Amino acid sequence: MASRGSSSLPTEACSYCSSAAVYVREHEGVRFCAACFRDAVEDRFRRTVVKHRMLEYNDHVAVALSGGKDSLTLLHLLVKLEKRFPRSTLTAVCVDEGIDGYRDEALELARAACAKLGVRQLVVSYRELFGTTTDEIARLKLGQTPCSYCGVFRRKAINRAAAMVGATKIATAHNLDDEVQTILLNMLHGDPLRIARSGPVLRDPRGSFLPRIKPLCDIPEKEIVFYAYLTGIKFQTVACPHGHEALRNDIRSFLNQMEIKHPGSKFTLLRSAEKLRNQMLQDLTLSELHECVKCGDPTPHELCEACVMLQTITV
Ligand code: SF4
Ligand code: ZN
Ligand code: ZN
Repeated sequence: MASRGSSSLPTEACSYCSSAAVYVREHEGVRFCAACFRDAVEDRFRRTVVKHRMLEYNDHVAVALSGGKDSLTLLHLLVKLEKRFPRSTLTAVCVDEGIDGYRDEALELARAACAKLGVRQLVVSYRELFGTTTDEIARLKLGQTPCSYCGVFRRKAINRAAAMVGATKIATAHNLDDEVQTILLNMLHGDPLRIARSGPVLRDPRGSFLPRIKPLCDIPEKEIVFYAYLTGIKFQTVACPHGHEALRNDIRSFLNQMEIKHPGSKFTLLRSAEKLRNQMLQDLTLSELHECVKCGDPTPHELCEACVMLQTITV
């Protein structure tokens, strides 16, 4: 197999054993054979969990499972980790946004993965929770993109599903690329305080919403794709028909170019945001959250974002 991840380093032996290298981690200057690459990804996942104290020995984790590469890889890694903690529980929570020709395949892949791994699964839908679907919202041609609604509703749907199964935590599959894209998006939207409400772990000091963890936040997207490929994880490759977030796509291209020219840029940006969050923002922002007057979810305003959006939809 050809070397991946670098054009400047030749394909040689793995830096950790004598097997042929199949992947180069450019910013660290190390090469991996397939087995050592998988070990390295699993090691980074475990280190992230430990570093941010994401899990307790008896947690019931609701894994937000979409059927894409990231969430299926997250489920796979959490199942491996869970075997070492017999008092912990995993439940996959899936959301059907109501997107014809797209979500059905992903839900089937998610169902098959849960059956194979022996993980309980709960599927909730926008139709049952909000009385509408992403396809219907797209047809209304509102001022914002369907993704703006869909993303807010998904967060709420996952919260609901996690509460239904009695979870103590929610794990989402945001990877390093997602995280740094969102950091720049927030800056470009003029909303830097949102950086404080994100991060690898989000806990509510008053305990009125479930902690959310992102155990893949230190793993680049391309490493997740390669890990899934090497591990035989089947995931959805078809793109959502509504997914045209122009600004995010531009940021993705910019960050990928930066990473090629300046390896490690994405990690540096993530660490910068962590410093900002830890030193200046988190306590301030979390203390500003209170309960939405309509649904009770945490929000810095009178109504949460989802309830505001629901008011704009007339179907
Ligand atoms: Fe929803 Fe946008 Fe994702 Fe499609 S791309 S599932 S519309 S958030
Ligand atoms: Zn090796
Ligand atoms: Zn609300």
